[in-house]
Amino acid sequence: MWLRLFNYFKAVRSFIYALTAFLCIVFIIIFSGIYKKSHDLIINVMYEQAESYFNLIVKTRAWNANSGGVYVIKDRDVESNPYLEKLGIKPDINCENGIRLTMRNPAIMTKEISRLMESSGVTFHITSLKLINQENAPDEFEKQSLRRFEKGEKKVWQIDRKGDTPLFRYMAPLYIENSCLACHANLGYKFGDIRGGISVNIPIKRIDAQLKNSRNILILTAFGTMVLIITVIYFMSRTLVLRLEDARQKMRRQALVDELTQVYNRRFLMKKLKSEFDRSLRYESRLSLIMIDIDHFKNINDTFGHLFGDVVLLRVAQIIQANLRGYDVLARYGGEEFVIVCPDSTVDEANAVAERVKEKITKEVITDGAHKASLTVSFGVTERRLDDTLDTLLSRVDTALYQAKNTGRDRIVIL
Ligand code: GH3
Ligand code: MG
Ligand code: MG
Repeated sequence: MWLRLFNYFKAVRSFIYALTAFLCIVFIIIFSGIYKKSHDLIINVMYEQAESYFNLIVKTRAWNANSGGVYVIKDRDVESNPYLEKLGIKPDINCENGIRLTMRNPAIMTKEISRLMESSGVTFHITSLKLINQENAPDEFEKQSLRRFEKGEKKVWQIDRKGDTPLFRYMAPLYIENSCLACHANLGYKFGDIRGGISVNIPIKRIDAQLKNSRNILILTAFGTMVLIITVIYFMSRTLVLRLEDARQKMRRQALVDELTQVYNRRFLMKKLKSEFDRSLRYESRLSLIMIDIDHFKNINDTFGHLFGDVVLLRVAQIIQANLRGYDVLARYGGEEFVIVCPDSTVDEANAVAERVKEKITKEVITDGAHKASLTVSFGVTERRLDDTLDTLLSRVDTALYQAKNTGRDRIVIL
């Protein structure tokens, strides 16, 4: 029922729809902002972590290169680096004490550290577009990053979800330094050239799960908040609409009902009378009218005051109303005059109503606690005739009442 009213109050409806849409948009903006912020924060942390891994490995490589390569004891597990020979360097030396050493240059050291790091999940990969060792061939991300470095970019990162383990991938270039030239000059490199790059790959499975988790929590929170707000709006608009309807009904009633006696006013009576008159013409049904006027009402006002006069008027209206049939319509016609429209009623039936009302009013002692008054009332009663118009019908009932007054009051005159 209230939803029907909701549609009726179009301005309220539009306002509520606009408010709901506005709040939903605001919430979506706020929550996606919060999500983006936390996402960016996590990416920043990953980025800095990857960058510090990169810097550490670059420094370690520089230490190695500046030392002109580092020798390690060559036991069964340690292989000689075959690529050094390509550069004209013999990797192995035999010490006088019988210990064999083999050289670890930056490239193989990076590879070996990366292998060691694998257990923690983080891997490095040294690669280049100009390869000495084909095993170091770049993958797609690395290839594109290397090309971007050549165009001047300094760092590249991306989140790679293609494999089984999602990875945060970071890559930065390696520049030829003086210490590198000893080995790499013969490949045509000059100081400052981009030699290649190192990619750092950090698994982000756990962080990714946390990110998804926090996104789900955020979506649920946003959804819950929106549902809550919409529920509040729903109940608020329901209350608003019901109150508006209540006020509208009151206003409508006030326009039709007499304030003092709470029966219909003259405006409504004339409308009702017209429609009943037309209906009785169309269906050739009976229609009777009763006009009531309180006898010597002026004396009540003069004797007990206007306020008590009001009490009497209200009480008389209540008595009349209480003694009508369901389809009779009572209205206050003027000061202390009332009219009853009796649809589908002969003059005798209307007279019976008048008799009953007259008896009840006459018997009643009206009091407000301080004053008491007994009343008599005069009635005019008539029925619609074939040649009647609304005016002649009203005028005849008025004449009947006039005659009742002129012939001594406290009586019913039928015309
Ligand atoms: P009659 O028997 O000839 O009808 O005499 P009456 O005194 O009833 O008639 P009259 O028309 O002279 O007086 C009607 C009075 O009703 C005059 C007016 O002050 C009073 N009256 C009209 N409306 C109200 C009202 O709302 N409240 C009160 N207290 N008095 C009202
Ligand atoms: Mg009167
Ligand atoms: Mg009067």
